[in-house]
Amino acid sequence: MAGQIERNVPLECDVLVAGGGVAGLMAAIAAADQGAKVIVAEKANSKRSGCGATGNDHFLCYIPEVHGEDPGEFIREMNESQVGGNNDMNLVRRYVAECFERVKDWDAWGVGMREHGDWEFNGHAKPGHLRIWLKYAGKDQKIIFTKQATARGITILNHHPFTEVITDGDGRAVGGICIDLTQEYPRMQVIRAKSVILATGNANRLFGSKTMGWMFNSAGCPSNVCTGRAAAYRAGARLVNLDLTGNGAGCKYFNRGGKATWIGVYSDMNGRPLGPFVTKPSKEYGDLAGDVWREMFSLKRSQGEPVFMNCSEVSDEDLDYMLWGLTNEGNVGTLDHLKEEGFDFRKHMVEFDGKEGGGIGGGIDISVDAECTVLGLFAAGDETGNFRADMGGAATFGHIAGISAAKYSEAGRIVEAEHMAVVEERAAHYSRILERKADTATPSWKEINVAIQQVMTDYCGSDVRSEHLLTTGLRHLKRIQEKAKDVHCADGHEFMRCLEVEDLALVGELAFCSAMERKETRGKHNRVDYPFTNPMLNNKFVVIQKGEEGPEVDWRDKITN
Ligand SMILES: Cc1cc2nc3c(=O)[nH]c(=O)nc-3n(C[C@H](O)[C@H](O)[C@H](O)COP(=O)(O)OP(=O)(O)OC[C@H]3O[C@@H](n4cnc5c(N)ncnc54)[C@H](O)[C@@H]3O)c2cc1C
Repeated sequence: MAGQIERNVPLECDVLVAGGGVAGLMAAIAAADQGAKVIVAEKANSKRSGCGATGNDHFLCYIPEVHGEDPGEFIREMNESQVGGNNDMNLVRRYVAECFERVKDWDAWGVGMREHGDWEFNGHAKPGHLRIWLKYAGKDQKIIFTKQATARGITILNHHPFTEVITDGDGRAVGGICIDLTQEYPRMQVIRAKSVILATGNANRLFGSKTMGWMFNSAGCPSNVCTGRAAAYRAGARLVNLDLTGNGAGCKYFNRGGKATWIGVYSDMNGRPLGPFVTKPSKEYGDLAGDVWREMFSLKRSQGEPVFMNCSEVSDEDLDYMLWGLTNEGNVGTLDHLKEEGFDFRKHMVEFDGKEGGGIGGGIDISVDAECTVLGLFAAGDETGNFRADMGGAATFGHIAGISAAKYSEAGRIVEAEHMAVVEERAAHYSRILERKADTATPSWKEINVAIQQVMTDYCGSDVRSEHLLTTGLRHLKRIQEKAKDVHCADGHEFMRCLEVEDLALVGELAFCSAMERKETRGKHNRVDYPFTNPMLNNKFVVIQKGEEGPEVDWRDKITN
């Protein structure tokens, strides 16, 4: 390619945000409202990027006038829901106290938070229990957040994938590196910053898709490949819960999130309900079986039974409501496909399945103020490993991270980050990739990515884990890491992919190390050599951090009050 990487003149800000998704934009807006000068480095275009690109329709939200003055029951439901389990309770409490404020912000900015009159709670619910998911119309949410950000003078650098946190001699974050892909050849862009917020979303393309080979057919945004986690680790931050894994459910072969929007009943081929929650379609509850009984799909398959979403008995009014919801939640492609195939919700059932071979359950470990364990570094949204509330989590902790980073930056000073050792080291590394001849003698990013997915799914996936599988799989992954050192690219786009696969291989390694440490079975961490859930490990999180000799695994207590 172009040879040595060219460098742009360094930019400067108080708060640098990596990722212009929901968490990133909410963080940027909150920081700017505190008076901070903010730059957002976004890999794609913030108007339509990330998991919320084409919309979402459920926002986990506590509203006292709806749920009662005591949030206790709400918190119980949240903990038992698909987002519960691995959340530190101080973060949960802060979330519950602040999430409605963010909903009100969105309402004021023009996101359709009460399209049918009042606050409306439907889906992901147990019959007879409190409903905690606020239904909303998020189709154009990213355009709205981008407008809010630009109105505040925030600089959004689209097509600038973030690659590295820059730390100073004391280990403090003093800026970041991203790649400027707006020109013919990639250029390195250093951004000096008093603080950095990581918000690059969830980790896709690490485990294999159900449609192997079609790597970008993933339930979440396929461009989110755990760079924030990898960069945080390299900068010395602590990651948490990478041993745990999870995967979603949805329309078979169409790997899209959004299962809770379907108003139907999980059924067998003869239309008989499979789960215990509903026997008739319910707009209010959905069918929780897909949320809490993920083994349903593999179990039924092992019995020779496909699983269907049966919407045949949905009323006309509720069918319209479901289609409205799916349109607002980025499922337009699926609906178009069903239409093209002559699908009739009254006559046909939609085949459903579990999603990828596994997903990473954890991420960056944050404090209640969204601080990482590295000074000046913050994280929010799907990037984090000790709190999960999906869209609402991105909004609420994005906002919290923005305020915390802006406050931290008030006392900080700008450092010439471009002179830190990591910048030279990275520039040399990038140049080596760019200078390499793009031929078959060296691997392409695609070959590396497919190999990583194969190994992650087969040796660290959610169906079975053991010491022997994990040890063998890690050995394979290490070999792939070695081969990845010779990866080549033909253009700027492929160059970005080359850097992505390095991050995927690193975070994959950390997942292997974390999974080896948890010598028990817990949820989808299915250790056949330790087949029971050890009560001694209740409320214990596996944490991992960079040590002198490589990854260092440890334990910490979950914060339970
Ligand atoms: C189809 C679908 C429907 C969903 N429905 C719901 C729902 O109804 N309710 C709910 O609560 N949750 C839902 N979710 C999940 C929800 O969308 C996510 O939890 C939420 O978007 C997380 O926000 P985030 O900002 O952390 O990540 P994202 O919104 O994914 O944003 C990450 C951003 O980082 C950018 N990025 C990635 N890597 C880099 C890099 N190296 N440098 C710079 N930028 C980078 C991406 O381009 C993206 O803009 C759904 C997800 C999908 C896919």
